Amino acid sequence: MKQSQKKKTDWSQFLSGVPARDYIFQDIPYEKQMEQASALIKESDIILIGAGAGASAAAGLTYSGERFTSNFSEFIEKYGSVYMTDMYAAGFYPFPTQEAKWGYWSKHSMINRFLPPALPLYRQLYEIVKEKEYFVLTTNVDHQFQKAGFQTERIFATQGDYGNIQCEKGCHPKIYDAEDLFRQMDQARHDCLVPSEMVPKCPVCGGNMTMHLRCDQYFVEDENWHGAAGRYCDFLKKMEQKKGVLLELGVGFNTPTIIRFPFEKMVRENRNLSLIRLNMDEAVVPESFGNRAVGIGGDMAKVISDLNHRNCI
Ligand SMILES: [Zn+2]
Repeated sequence: MKQSQKKKTDWSQFLSGVPARDYIFQDIPYEKQMEQASALIKESDIILIGAGAGASAAAGLTYSGERFTSNFSEFIEKYGSVYMTDMYAAGFYPFPTQEAKWGYWSKHSMINRFLPPALPLYRQLYEIVKEKEYFVLTTNVDHQFQKAGFQTERIFATQGDYGNIQCEKGCHPKIYDAEDLFRQMDQARHDCLVPSEMVPKCPVCGGNMTMHLRCDQYFVEDENWHGAAGRYCDFLKKMEQKKGVLLELGVGFNTPTIIRFPFEKMVRENRNLSLIRLNMDEAVVPESFGNRAVGIGGDMAKVISDLNHRNCI
């Protein structure tokens, strides 16, 4: 018992709830910013990537608009366009039965997790860092980093994965690969519902299962999750002694305490670290970081592509 307790890493030590007080939009031309970001990456010994929802949206996995209406027309018709506005809102719909719940989530997982290949933004990002010592911290649950070639041992996906399910009450610390189940459900779905015999039940308590996504206190942090948390912790220690870059992608202010604020804290407290922040609308950086920070707004797919191009020269 002692052994398993010892292995667990305290998640709270990674978090920070304190935002910078001196945010600015840098008044520097794009070309100059790219030059600066590229130089920081080239000169670094170690890179920590932090990726939020904005990264996958920029890569093409948008949750609204045509991608939603064309793939989920049946669901919009059945449950109403007032509730079914996009894939994010749809996930919170109070589905009346388990057959309806899995009817939706099997579709959502197919569209966002199993059908898309490794997208160019992620593949180019991998090209940029693959020769470096790197680690990925992400709140995304779409498996894009793994698909693009990033090593599983160097990824900490804190919020789960669309490919896995768990006991709804988290009665035991285990998650289950649901790829085969979701593919079967996708074939069998009728009128947005899956057949009752396909509805998964918890093998321990017999209760309902749910997606392995952090949305309440029952989220399961299994052995692999703790392993990744531990490796992230080790990486942070290693980074303290090296010249490092924190490359933050598409992290807004919805859950800033996991990536955005901790990254700022690390750069504030260690002069060997620099921050490259890519964010569509919120590429503000602390003014006090001076030339140790680059905040680049706009289309991240273009920024990554340009960075990769410069990296290859
Ligand atoms: Zn259970």
